[in-house]
Amino acid sequence: MEPHLFTPGPVAVPHAVRVAGAAPLIGHRSEPYFALLGEIQGRLRRLLGTDRPVVLLPSSGTGALEALVVNLLAPGERAISVSCGAFGDRFREIAARWGVAIHAVDIPWGSAAGPEDVARALKECPDASALLLTHNETSTGVATDLAACLSVVPPDGPLVLVDAVSSLGAMACRPDAWGVDGLASCSQKGLMTPPGLGLVALSERG
Ligand SMILES: *Cc1c(COP(=O)(O)O)cnc(C)c1O
Repeated sequence: MEPHLFTPGPVAVPHAVRVAGAAPLIGHRSEPYFALLGEIQGRLRRLLGTDRPVVLLPSSGTGALEALVVNLLAPGERAISVSCGAFGDRFREIAARWGVAIHAVDIPWGSAAGPEDVARALKECPDASALLLTHNETSTGVATDLAACLSVVPPDGPLVLVDAVSSLGAMACRPDAWGVDGLASCSQKGLMTPPGLGLVALSERG
């Protein structure tokens, strides 16, 4: 009997994906691999609506979030952290442990942040270097309307960093159109592939 995964991720992987994983190995420094990686890059860029390279990481989604924080923020800088659940809290904790000073915006669990919450935080914390948001808060099943929330962030405002771990592949994710500077996701949720690959999409600024 096959085990059933009653989790938001890893999700059950389609048969064709499992079979592809059983194919004979190819060299990781060979032309066939370069072609495969090029195809994956092209597909990820289409999925994300971006022309820029998507950075692939040998990590979980949490590792991709940490990669955003440690590469785009310095200890001592300030970040606005909008959280409406367990994963928003985790993103905040990653930044806090890196030494980032947190301006916390706590939305009641079960609700989503709106543009008014973001606008207020920007006013209260004008020197923030980053704004941390969760696209789909898996712990409560609440999605945040990023297009609306980010419409109040000026182009020279804080870097916008987004946890899109459970949204990518399941809902529209348009970081460039929405003004996201760093988006983190991974392989084992909406993309329906095995765990082990993190991914990061960056804006020009990011
Ligand atoms: C699952 C999840 C994570 C953590 O991903 P891992 O790959 O398990 O590290 C982070 N954020 C959200 C919103 C998630 O759903």
